[in-house]
Formats: sequence, C-alpha cells, structure tokens
Amino acid sequence: MGNADTSATAAAHMRTLREISGPLARKGDTSPSRAKPAHAPAPIDLGLLDHLEASRAEIVAAVRDANPAAGPAPLDEGIYQWMVDATPQLDEDRRRVHEALAYRQGLEHALRAGEEKVIRRHACPACRTWGLFWSRPAQRAACVNRYCSDAAGRRSTWTLSQLAHHHIATQAERRRTAT
Ligand SMILES: [Zn+2]
Repeated sequence: MGNADTSATAAAHMRTLREISGPLARKGDTSPSRAKPAHAPAPIDLGLLDHLEASRAEIVAAVRDANPAAGPAPLDEGIYQWMVDATPQLDEDRRRVHEALAYRQGLEHALRAGEEKVIRRHACPACRTWGLFWSRPAQRAACVNRYCSDAAGRRSTWTLSQLAHHHIATQAERRRTAT
C-alpha cells in the first residue's frame, strides 16, 4: 500500500518536472501560434534533462541489482511502478530501500520544480516538530525548532536521503501498529 503511494507520488513529481522540461526539448519551435504561457516561464534549467536521466539510471541500476532478469525499463515516470513490479521478491529491508529511493527522488523532482513545500510536510526526525524547511545553500532540510541542535549548537539538518528513509520507516511502523 505504502509502496504504491510512494511510487505514484514519485511518478507525479517526475511528470511535473518533465512537463517543465518539455519546452526545452522543443526549444527550436518559435512559431507564434504557440499559446502564451499562463505565467512567466521558469528560468531554463539545462541540468533538468540530465537530472531526469540520472534519476532513471539510478532506478534501473537498483532494479537490475535486485533482479537481473527484469524487462526493459520505461523511459518516463512509469519507471517507479516498473521498479515495484519488476522486484516482487524483495525482502522487507530491500523493499524499504527501494521505497526510500523512489521517495527521495520524488523530493528531488519537487525541489527542482520549485516546490519547497514538500519539505514542510515532514516532521523533524529528531524532535518531531513540524516545520522543516529547505536550505538551498546547504541543500538540506533544516529544523525550525531552535532547541533542536547538536552539541555545538548547530541547527539539526537532514539530507533528502535521511528524510526519505525516516519517512518510509515511520510509514512502515504506522502500518504495523495499525494492524
Ligand atoms: Zn528538530
């Protein structure tokens, strides 16, 4: 259940990003018949397509590692459902690793699309306070709670990978206690 949600969420974020990167692929098209965008176009990020390709490659590598006989990988956001379908035999630990991978990529796609609010939906793994925010300079999620810091007084911060693993573990824990 959580697995399906995670892959669907990651896929939705990738689709959004692909829609943003779409005009890039057609940038030769300057015909005036093209509808004006409803809002100002985002600055063109030439790294976007590379990012999408690297994300896909990471999923493909994880799947092939778990199941060398997996069939051909989709070229689009179907990659996340493919990861689930192509690795039905995973034990609980590895399945969680895959879920966290998909979840982390979903966060990465959302941040690339400028949706920093996806970070605020997480409680801090240390103090459980709601209100993590994305620190662009640090490229980490940071806790708003000023009492939440390490021995040196530094604010608690989290990588997207840490956040993803924590999220998936919490979800699994919730499922277990709900039954
Ligand atoms: Zn905290």
